[in-house]
Amino acid sequence: MSTESKYLFGPVPSRRLGLSLGVDVVPLKTCTQNCIYCQLGRHGVQTLERKSYVAAQAVLAELKQRIAEGLRADYITFSGSGEPTLNRDIGAMIDGIRAMTDMKVAIITNGTLLGDPEVRADCCKADVVLPSLDAADPETFEKINRPHEAIRFDAFIEGLCRFREQYAGPIWLEVFLLEGVNTADDEIARMRELIARIRPDKVQLNTAVRPTAERNLAALDEARLQAIAGKLNFNAEVIADFARPPESQEMPEASRQILEMLRRRPCSLEDVCRGLGVGGIVAIKNINSLIAAGRVRTQVQDGKTFYIVPA
Ligand code: SF4
Repeated sequence: MSTESKYLFGPVPSRRLGLSLGVDVVPLKTCTQNCIYCQLGRHGVQTLERKSYVAAQAVLAELKQRIAEGLRADYITFSGSGEPTLNRDIGAMIDGIRAMTDMKVAIITNGTLLGDPEVRADCCKADVVLPSLDAADPETFEKINRPHEAIRFDAFIEGLCRFREQYAGPIWLEVFLLEGVNTADDEIARMRELIARIRPDKVQLNTAVRPTAERNLAALDEARLQAIAGKLNFNAEVIADFARPPESQEMPEASRQILEMLRRRPCSLEDVCRGLGVGGIVAIKNINSLIAAGRVRTQVQDGKTFYIVPA
């Protein structure tokens, strides 16, 4: 792929992070959880094993080249196609980024590994950390996040609290809300108590505005999200992106290639990654832009999501 690299995506405008360059450091859907709202499909590798899924040197070499070409972004953001803290070299990668540029570093994480002191130490190197909290009790945690069987809800919350004690930088806690799953009044009240314990700097509310792993999930509208933000009685804001991006933007080369591929036949996310030799973040971000622009839509076959170009 000519203008996109294998591990980097963007920079793209991000509601939370300004102009954000995404860094993808695990293979597609390699995660500690299998959330019902995941954009990466229903099946992947669920693991707690930290290892060098993607070599730090390969990521840093791509970044070095992009910086030499004049890259500027508000944040270099570890996110992408799974749980980035599963890559045990994430701390070394942040050190490498610091040696190369003064651009700020963000980590978007589901937070389940923050009970591990090494993960906390790695995350402490970032300028901002954006963990998730979608449930206020073990039952809802199981239902919405479907964590690895060894993850316990109480230990997950404890990890978030320990990280807060250790990390002086900003923590922006994302809460993903689905009507009828985690929006009952008592659930929101318990969530408010947990948030008070975790002490993030901000709470950011999101909902299912993109295709999700499981069908028939009910997104909240903006007014409902705002009402819940008020109930949390905290520095909470709505980040769900209900608006379509401007259609006039020039289409990135990666999107063109994906569109060309989908014109030939419907493809799953895995097909796109394999066919074009790109990481999950590059594929999903471009597909999402194409969906938002009305150029691509989803179709479910045998429980699997395929992307197609409407006739
Ligand atoms: S939404 Fe994030 S945390 Fe949940 S399964 Fe997908 S990649 Fe993992």
